[in-house]
Amino acid sequence: MKQGKVWLIGAGPGDPELLTLKAVKALGQAQVVLVDDLVAPQILAYCPQARMVKVGKRGGCRSTSQEFIQRLMLRYARQGLCVARLKGGDPCVFGRAGEEVRWLAEHGIACEIVNGVTAGLAAASLCGIPLTLRGVARGVTLITAHAEDGSTPDWSALATSGTTLVVYMGVTRLEEIRACLLAGGMPGATPVVMIENATLPQQRQCFGTLAGMIGDAAGFGLRSPAVLVIGDVVAHAVRGESAERDTSPIERCA
Ligand code: SAH
Repeated sequence: MKQGKVWLIGAGPGDPELLTLKAVKALGQAQVVLVDDLVAPQILAYCPQARMVKVGKRGGCRSTSQEFIQRLMLRYARQGLCVARLKGGDPCVFGRAGEEVRWLAEHGIACEIVNGVTAGLAAASLCGIPLTLRGVARGVTLITAHAEDGSTPDWSALATSGTTLVVYMGVTRLEEIRACLLAGGMPGATPVVMIENATLPQQRQCFGTLAGMIGDAAGFGLRSPAVLVIGDVVAHAVRGESAERDTSPIERCA
């Protein structure tokens, strides 16, 4: 029997308009869609023909559930079906794409990655922050404080890297992040912004400094999903009216 195919598709950070045209095309061809937790429900309107399987991880049993998802992808692909694995943000940024691509390759299943807009980049832009502002930051580091093997990042190296830090999955580790960056030589006055639900109507952001970020987060009531942007570029945020968003419907260009 003919083998199916798997697309690993980035659904973007929340705003459905940030979906790529390639993602829309692939979703239109999919027969089965495996959907993660952080995917905007409006995006499912692009695949009304497909069977929908929710595979979000609700804490605990992470590895078991990842294995289960991989087996599911394989099972459907072996039935000859076109499978879309729809993930929040970009599939290759803290999205397990690496394991899934390897697993599928090992089992002889064709796989294609369709990029999405990753939450950290979108969050910064909506706050008017140029992540690699010339003369201020020489790059950007996407980093997670949460590692499955319990290891921690080299915060001292990051503190002096001259790059803007965009921290994913950091909400429960703010104290550790702050203490390690300060110990690594990052000044307490370094600007920080915490951005919750980026690109969604309920987006909120809290500007402050590295030294004050624990109190700021508590006062603000910071909750997941959120990213932290840490670095001097945060002080260059252009806010105000220019940050207002266009929410009018998309019109076709002739
Ligand atoms: N692949 C995703 C990241 C998945 S890890 C991407 O590229 O964006 C999940 C983490 O992403 C969350 O804990 C949070 O840190 C971040 N995240 C995802 N969506 C977000 C959003 N709308 N606003 C802020 N952070 C978000």
